[in-house]
Amino acid sequence: MTASEEKFTRQRLLAVETLTPSLFTLRTTRDAGFRFQAGQFARLGVRKPSGSLVWRAYSMVSAPHDEFLDFFSVVVPDGEFTSELRRLGPGDELLVERQPYGYLTLDRFADGRDLWLLATGTGVAPFLSILQDFEVWQRFERIVLVYSVREARELAYQDLINGFARRDYLAEHAHKLTYLPTITREQRPGALHGRITTLLETGELERAAGLPLSPEHSRIMLCGNPQMIEDTRLLLKARDLQLSLTRRPGQVAVENYW
Ligand code: NAP
Repeated sequence: MTASEEKFTRQRLLAVETLTPSLFTLRTTRDAGFRFQAGQFARLGVRKPSGSLVWRAYSMVSAPHDEFLDFFSVVVPDGEFTSELRRLGPGDELLVERQPYGYLTLDRFADGRDLWLLATGTGVAPFLSILQDFEVWQRFERIVLVYSVREARELAYQDLINGFARRDYLAEHAHKLTYLPTITREQRPGALHGRITTLLETGELERAAGLPLSPEHSRIMLCGNPQMIEDTRLLLKARDLQLSLTRRPGQVAVENYW
């Protein structure tokens, strides 16, 4: 098989940064032919010392127009993929499948005025890609990013998130973003305290955003812990916010991140 017939391309790690003992970020080179929509994920492959390949899916954090690819990973205890990945450093090879995957993309919604992006942990990744793409800023009047972690030190990409307000090309749009970090296992000024599900049930999330949820205006994306997604979906359904399906456009799009 020639390299161009393989279903993956060979890329190089450009940087690896450790955030906490269990969280790290990666930057790799990008094949010029690799195209994806903001919110999609790639399958990454690493070669074990034995020579066999292990694969895992990761959402792109970087924008579709960036020349590199960024990813955000949690170290899965005894996880085959992340224990291999952890061993790698700048210059090492990483395989990227040519085909991107996933439907957590803005085209899931036909319309809508307010976009809610609700993430736990590394599930914030696809939302960062979406926010680095211009379309979302043009399409929505309000964008609320809710990012739930256990401890403050686990909040990743804070400079990126807080820097949207300073990007020249967003000058007319930056005010649309409300960023609500929420920390569940400690209290910190400037952050909400409690799970996304609890904050939704008590109405605190809407109060903090200064925006009510409604089937007419709200479009909601959920990404992260599978139980959070399931529980949040039920809470939203009870408020008549329905999953968006191909045959029936709705208000909610989801991606399990594990
Ligand atoms: P996490 O335990 O899901 O915690 C992240 C945030 O989500 C916390 O604020 C947490 O609140 C909240 N949360 C958890 N369950 C929830 C629920 N049912 N409803 C609402 N909110 C909920 O994720 P993590 O800290 O990023 O990772 C924890 C472990 O998950 C890791 O050790 C890893 O092994 C595993 N993980 C695996 C993968 C994978 O690909 N296999 C990916 C990500 C994580 P609380 O503090 O109240 O729990």
